[in-house]
Amino acid sequence: MPKTPSTNSMDAQVADKEEVALVRRQYLESEQRFRALLESLPKLAVQGYDRDRRVIYWNEGSTRLYGYTAEEALGQLLEDLIIPDFMRNGVIQAHGTWIEKGIAIPAGELELKHKTGELISVFSQHLMLNEHTDSPLLFCVDVDLSDQKRAHRDLEFATRFDRLTHLPNRQTFEVDLDNLLDSCRRQGTGLATIYLDIDHFVEINDALGYDQGDRLLVELTRRLKACQQDTDLVSRVSSDEFVLAFPGIHLDADVRRVVRHLQNVFLKPFVLDGRERQVTACLGVALFPENGESSRELIRNADVAKNRAKLEGRYAVHFFQQKLHDELVRQHDLSARLEEALDNGEFTLHYQPQVSAVSGRIENLEALLRWEPTEGPTISPAEFIPLAERSGLIHRLGDWVIEEACRQQVEWRAKGFRQQRIDINVSGRQLVRPGALKSFEDTLQRHGLAPQDIGIELTESVLIEADETVLEDLRRLYHRGFHIAIDDFGTGYSSLSYLKHFPATALKIDRSFIHDAPTQPKDRAIMEGAIFIGHRLGLEVVAEGVENAEQLSLLRDMHCDLVQGFFFFRPMPAQEIERLLSGFVASPGGLSG
Ligand code: C2E
Ligand code: CA
Ligand code: CA
Repeated sequence: MPKTPSTNSMDAQVADKEEVALVRRQYLESEQRFRALLESLPKLAVQGYDRDRRVIYWNEGSTRLYGYTAEEALGQLLEDLIIPDFMRNGVIQAHGTWIEKGIAIPAGELELKHKTGELISVFSQHLMLNEHTDSPLLFCVDVDLSDQKRAHRDLEFATRFDRLTHLPNRQTFEVDLDNLLDSCRRQGTGLATIYLDIDHFVEINDALGYDQGDRLLVELTRRLKACQQDTDLVSRVSSDEFVLAFPGIHLDADVRRVVRHLQNVFLKPFVLDGRERQVTACLGVALFPENGESSRELIRNADVAKNRAKLEGRYAVHFFQQKLHDELVRQHDLSARLEEALDNGEFTLHYQPQVSAVSGRIENLEALLRWEPTEGPTISPAEFIPLAERSGLIHRLGDWVIEEACRQQVEWRAKGFRQQRIDINVSGRQLVRPGALKSFEDTLQRHGLAPQDIGIELTESVLIEADETVLEDLRRLYHRGFHIAIDDFGTGYSSLSYLKHFPATALKIDRSFIHDAPTQPKDRAIMEGAIFIGHRLGLEVVAEGVENAEQLSLLRDMHCDLVQGFFFFRPMPAQEIERLLSGFVASPGGLSG
């Protein structure tokens, strides 16, 4: 069709001819370009089919994709060549409908047939040329999807399974276990989740190389699978950790049986680097429903139990215990709060009087640390001191105790309370810091206090484990007139012979002996022996934890010097001590006899 109508008919005819030639040239050129384009796209398989679906065009890409050369394909029927049987009728029908009713075949992913019969994934687009003529041509443009499909499958595998052992990974295991738990619930049976951690796997890797480490993991996987039943699950969750689930547990004996099965997996040595090697693993067990309802909970608790087992050494098994776990969680929580508590001033000192066994007079005070959080109940030093020792906060805490005891003593001295000494507890960890005792002396000096004003209490194990520099410092304190008590005596080494080697001034007999002395002849004998030898070595002897008149009477008979315990006074805040020292509070009746 001419583009612009001309006023002159001659001109118009010439122009028309030129236009036609131009359009034809353009058409030929575009067709050439179209074909060139098709040929140049090796990934694109293009086929043309006539009205009867016989191949009239077959490019290189089609040969590559479907296996037939152009010579083989030309003239063949579409449905005979690349259409799998199950699609045959559908394709013939869709082709007919397009020609008759103009309803196009939509583009989409298909699985078509290769010359070898194998199915291949393609994305297929369809195009009808010369649609409203007697010779409609169907062109198919197919893109090979097998690489993408493979990549997709690989990706799916990688996200669900472990590459080395081909076992389900943690995510897959979690889903599988939740399904298994559903069926346990329906059937009313229990299930054991077991965490398995190879002992010293790092050493195997380091000594023999990663390939031998991998070998071990693959062989272990084989053995674990061999001892499994259909419904059991196994998964590799990290480098040397596996988690297994055993449903159908009814009795304790069932759990013991699966644990034994797993342990037996390690009986036979593993051949690594050409040599037989004994490998072991620790197991942590969490039971459904007792230790958790969901796969997450069970896996986590089995992991917690496994970590406990690891602490016990090689080849250990540990069963998850909620109470123990709660305890660990609480310790962790307290540990995390300790430092802030110190900054917030949540600590105070309470004081417990030590009285003369004979006269009942208050002679000294023991300073006992108290943590009173802004919220919640008071926390015992027996609980938080070990945590502070582990985290190293004990140094700051210990400094605070010394500082506070000194401050309090100065205040009391100023108020005219002259008699009593304050003894503070010093833990073994505190002495590890170089110069700890020197800094204790400095603090006293800074407050203008004398050696008789503040004493220290150390446990016998601290003294036994002390190195020479600490002992040297202690000797110096001793000679300067400081009071040094051996605390909790009898609980550690219970050997009296080393006593003479230590620079101590007093012995505090542990309250467990005092508690049992009235009924247990053995405890009474130890107590009597300790008091006797203590005196022979020139030590003052203190009995802790005196709770009743019977105990007191025994102690008096044994000539114990000082007594401390609830029978007289509980540890109390400074204010109450003040009232006591001022004589506002009458002495308890325990000593009237
Ligand atoms: P400890 O040095 O043996 O302190 C004596 C403990 O026995 C105190 O417990 C005290 O309250 C308790 N007690 C006293 N009389 C009786 C009694 O008649 N019966 C019974 N059942 N118990 C009695 P507390 O205050 O809970 O302290 C526990 C431990 O915490 C102390 O044992 C000590 O080892 C440690 N501790 C306390 N304060 C400090 C401190 O400032 N620094 C350090 N390093 N440790 C401290
Ligand atoms: Ca003490
Ligand atoms: Ca004690």
